[in-house]
Amino acid sequence: MSPDETAARWEMAKLGASLFDRGFSVGTAGNISVRLSDGILMSPTNARLCDLDPERISKLDMDGKHVSGDRATKEVFLHQAFYDTRPDAGAVVHLHSTWATALSCLDEIDPNNCIPPLTPYVVMRVGSVKLVPYVRPGDPKSGQLIRELDGRFAAVLLANHGPVVSGKSLFSAVCAAEELEETAKLVMALEGRKVRYLTNHEVADLIRTFGTI
Ligand SMILES: [Zn+2]
Repeated sequence: MSPDETAARWEMAKLGASLFDRGFSVGTAGNISVRLSDGILMSPTNARLCDLDPERISKLDMDGKHVSGDRATKEVFLHQAFYDTRPDAGAVVHLHSTWATALSCLDEIDPNNCIPPLTPYVVMRVGSVKLVPYVRPGDPKSGQLIRELDGRFAAVLLANHGPVVSGKSLFSAVCAAEELEETAKLVMALEGRKVRYLTNHEVADLIRTFGTI
C-alpha cells in the first residue's frame, strides 16, 4: 500500500470521527470518500463514521468495482458522479446533517441556488448549491442527476435527504460540508427577518479575488 493511501485511510477515520462526535452524522448516516491514483477509498456500508477502521475501509477501482476491505456504502454512486464530472475533486462528503437536510425539505428554496449568499465564507468554500430532485435512497438515478450537472457545482443538496459536497482534499470537503450545514442553520434562524444578502457585485468580487470552488 502506498504511503498516500495509508495516510488517506487514517485521515478518513480521524475526520469521520470528528464529524460524528460533533453531531454532523448520527447512526450510520453519511459517508465519505477519497480519490487515489488507482481507485477510491469509501466508508463501508452500515458503518458509523466514528468507527472507521483504516484497514477495513472499502477500496474500489475507478469503475466502482470492489477491490478490498468491507463492502462500500450503498450511496457509492453519489461519490462516483462527482469524481467522473469534476477532475479536481479529491474527496466527497455526504451527510444527513440536520439543518441542511431541513433546508432540503422546504418547498420554496431556489433549486439553482439553495444556499443564499449570506456570508463571504459560504461563497468561497461552498459556492452555488444545486437542488437534486428527490430519488428513493439506493436508486442510482441520483448519481445520474448529479452527472447531468456536468461538474458545474462543487456541492448539491439532495431533496428530502441531505448534502453531497466535493473538495480538492478530504479536509477541504469536510470544511465545506460544515460551512454548508452552518449556513443552512443561519437560513433557518433568519427566516421571517429582513435579510441583506451579498449583492451580485459582492459575490463576483469574492470569486474574482479568491477564485471559484
Ligand atoms: Zn444519504
